[in-house]
Amino acid sequence: MSETLNPFLNAQRQVKKACDKLKLDPSVYELLKEPEKVLIVSIPVKMDDGTMKTFTGYRSQHNTAMGPTKGGVRFHQDVTLDEVKALSIWMTFKCAVVGLPYGGSKGGVTVNALELSKNELEKLSRGYINAISSIIDPKKDSPGPDVGTNPQVMGWFMDEYSKIKGYNIPSIATGKPIEIGGSLGRNQATGYGVSVMVKKVCEALNMDINKTRVAIQGFGNVGSFAALNCVKLGAKVVAVGEWTKRTGTYAVYNEEGLDVEKMFEYKAQKGDLVDFPGGKMISLEDFWKLDNIDILIPAAMENALTVENTSQIKAKIIVEAANGPITPEADEILNKKSIPVFPDILCNSGGVTASYFEWVQNLQNYYWTVEEVNSRLKTIMTKAFDDVFKMHKEQNVTLREAAYLCAVKRIADAMKIRGWV
Ligand code: GLU
Repeated sequence: MSETLNPFLNAQRQVKKACDKLKLDPSVYELLKEPEKVLIVSIPVKMDDGTMKTFTGYRSQHNTAMGPTKGGVRFHQDVTLDEVKALSIWMTFKCAVVGLPYGGSKGGVTVNALELSKNELEKLSRGYINAISSIIDPKKDSPGPDVGTNPQVMGWFMDEYSKIKGYNIPSIATGKPIEIGGSLGRNQATGYGVSVMVKKVCEALNMDINKTRVAIQGFGNVGSFAALNCVKLGAKVVAVGEWTKRTGTYAVYNEEGLDVEKMFEYKAQKGDLVDFPGGKMISLEDFWKLDNIDILIPAAMENALTVENTSQIKAKIIVEAANGPITPEADEILNKKSIPVFPDILCNSGGVTASYFEWVQNLQNYYWTVEEVNSRLKTIMTKAFDDVFKMHKEQNVTLREAAYLCAVKRIADAMKIRGWV
């Protein structure tokens, strides 16, 4: 079977399916199939050794029917125009499924950020914001973190943009350090939100979370905080799949449950989880085949589950924490195997929801406690889950289709009222 690995084509396919199912006027898909605006930039950076290097950067703003666009910036060697466009489409539907007053955007730079010095990373971050400054604004489009970027990078974004404008504009970027207007809870928010969804999944499917065994692929910002918070809610995290430069892919497994806090400490010290003493090392191939997993959480990158490894999966349920981790063909296989897939645009929406809170706090110059952030996040995501689950039952469609139906309908209604379609 030939497999579509181009995320942009996959994203378009998902949107088309929802538009057809809702029997929307073809003009709706016509407006949603491409981003409204895409900027491609060259970012020159004077490297530490004195040579000049130019990096290619992108910003894709997909749809503004619901409000200004919002989305992260990815620094990764595999970043392409099509990937950034796809990710911006997914952001539109993610924001709509949780009901945020935003459309979607995404940015990226093709670079292996791990190979840059701190000084080079700062120059690249500032150069990127300079290059896209003409199309961003807190009321138009504001960047946030994604793969390969972190609070420090957001801090440089905010500082550089503020310098360009001549006054402090914290609302231009979210996921900033707390000291310069970051929101409490933002750094943990995507993973925390995933755990809120895991709890909802257990409730909806009549499972006891205390007896639920979880496997997570990826122990970056999203996977690690998802693991930590799933454990806090009573689940057992028995396997974590990872990748590291020195050994490639691997997984850590402990039938009795991994000590996630110790894994945080170990990774902070060693840089990865190789030979973590609280579990045994297995291959990533064996990780996918584990037969005693209730919930599998892909929390790394796109296309983690392909036709090849999906046929071997024995987990009962999948909760997507990464963006686009399952190819459409793999999705079909899971569907045939009756393995429910709780989709990315719902399950990883905690990050952008907390970013929305940060933006609101920055605009008001009034700051919330971490309890306020987490409880509002939980309320918003719980309602979104209930809406999607209801749609899934009522329309007898997959959970992914249900999430797209909820989201596309909201955007289509807004576009209709605004007179766009
Ligand atoms: N990168 C996050 C996501 O994929 C959102 C970034 C933001 O908060 O703007 O959902």
